[in-house]
Amino acid sequence: MERLAGIIRDIKFRCTSCGKCCTRSFNGHVFLLDRDVKAVLAIEPEALEPAPGPEFCDQKGTFYVSGYALRVQNDEAGSCWFLKDGRCRIYDQRFAICRIYPYMLHREPDEEGTVDWRQFSGLEQHGEYDETIPDEESMEIARETKEYENAFLTQEIRFLEYMQAFFTRNRLRHVQKIYDDQLRAFRKGAEIKVMVFFDDRLEEHRLRLP
Ligand code: SF4
Repeated sequence: MERLAGIIRDIKFRCTSCGKCCTRSFNGHVFLLDRDVKAVLAIEPEALEPAPGPEFCDQKGTFYVSGYALRVQNDEAGSCWFLKDGRCRIYDQRFAICRIYPYMLHREPDEEGTVDWRQFSGLEQHGEYDETIPDEESMEIARETKEYENAFLTQEIRFLEYMQAFFTRNRLRHVQKIYDDQLRAFRKGAEIKVMVFFDDRLEEHRLRLP
């Protein structure tokens, strides 16, 4: 915690409300913890979509993904569903990852495959870097970041354990070739079935590109 807070103070990042981090063109997708999915369900359920990049595909062609992401608008930047005129419409209720951004940590394996925290997200591409961050604030950011990362990893582990039991019980297995074939067909307009892990169960979605 002390080390993380020290790095946060050294970076001196301050948000300038440019809104870049709330677009898919800048940041990929916004993955949601289960508790955030429940919040979205109470605000605007249509803002949810299965997170892109499903982890598994079984021999029957069904995909499995570890959670939901925020849907984006149909504009050039791929703005978050909740972004309006460069501002978050639900700022006071924004989600865990939005609160800690850009301090979410990148997990990168080294050459031996050991995963470590390497760097913060998108630094030098947005915001300002000359702000003095008080000790107390840096410790609070570090605490929130650690809490988010713990919650994220706990959810991922729950998903993997669930999938292991589910695949074993139903005699399913991941088949990479079917995964690749299905994805190719999806890109050409075919419908795919995606099971999303949420609240310790799988929810079914049928997806087709517009
Ligand atoms: S919910 Fe708000 S803060 Fe989070 S990505 Fe969307 S617009 Fe940005």
